[in-house]
Amino acid sequence: MDQGTPPAQATISIVVPCYNEAKVIAETLRRLVALAKGLQDDVELIFVDDGSSDSTREIVKSYDSDGIPVRLVGFSRNFGHQIAVSAGINAAKGDALVLIDADLQDPPEIIPEMIRKWRDGYEVVYGVRTERPGESMFKLATARGFYRLLNEFSDVPIPFDTGDFRLMSKSVADVLRAMPERDRFLRGMVSWVGFRQTPLPYKRAPRFAGETKYPLAKMVRFAVDGILSFSIKPLQLSVSLGMTCAVMAVLGIAYALYLRIFTDIWVEGWTALMIAVLFLGGVQLISVGILGEYVGRIYSESKGRPLYVVDEYYGFPPP
Ligand code: UDP
Ligand code: MG
Repeated sequence: MDQGTPPAQATISIVVPCYNEAKVIAETLRRLVALAKGLQDDVELIFVDDGSSDSTREIVKSYDSDGIPVRLVGFSRNFGHQIAVSAGINAAKGDALVLIDADLQDPPEIIPEMIRKWRDGYEVVYGVRTERPGESMFKLATARGFYRLLNEFSDVPIPFDTGDFRLMSKSVADVLRAMPERDRFLRGMVSWVGFRQTPLPYKRAPRFAGETKYPLAKMVRFAVDGILSFSIKPLQLSVSLGMTCAVMAVLGIAYALYLRIFTDIWVEGWTALMIAVLFLGGVQLISVGILGEYVGRIYSESKGRPLYVVDEYYGFPPP
């Protein structure tokens, strides 16, 4: 798999997913083009327009990048962040790929440091957020809880406080391109691939402009996807939950029989009964729900539809 040491003059593909980012995209372009000009290596900028309804696509296409190749993959509708990143990876031709959000929360200025580490022999350099100003306590707390839970469940360790901001070598990108799953949880997939990986701490900035595209409901969905696509432990959990209930029921029966036979105090009251019925009902529904999540995943995988639909490629060299 090893494709040897990085060439002296490499091509770096920078992949930027964007969804309704008209307010920031020109600034992002400016910063990335400035960065590209300062690098020894060649750079291609790949923007993936995830079905924006604003002018994001037009701004990218009409940007005067002064010779730095700006390419665009335009989706026919909104397919979601992780799928947009996947499309960018598929379209990239570089010896190394950098994934970065469009909102400038991740500073492009540390990309040279990532490239240096890549030249030192690392296949993946992942950004670790040491500070996250401008994000609510709630988001920070939920993010922490999420990574903890994820690592509890997942078989491959997934580093804490990482996002998709990372550099990966061509070999890692090739493995990702060959992974057909629809449930794309990239930071987990990259951990799964293995190779030599190293963290790079950085300070996360607040969003440059515009709003987050991850409201609470989407965040929860993302977390559930992350866990379910990386582990079948929730299934095992529902089994142990069921076992626990069964054991408790047996104990309860034994106790009731004991009272009935050896004492005058007969079991009475419907409270205990109600509680038991509700509790069991809850456990059963949760278990069926967990099962359903997995069955649903099998269903959508089995349809074998393409991951995304492109309605426009712009700026790519002719095949
Ligand atoms: N994004 C996308 N498709 C979506 C939602 C988001 O391509 O459906 C992009 C978005 O434009 C941004 C990145 O994914 O470049 C991260 O989104 P955002 O900054 O809103 O998430 P947050 O940083 O708040 O978690
Ligand atoms: Mg953001």
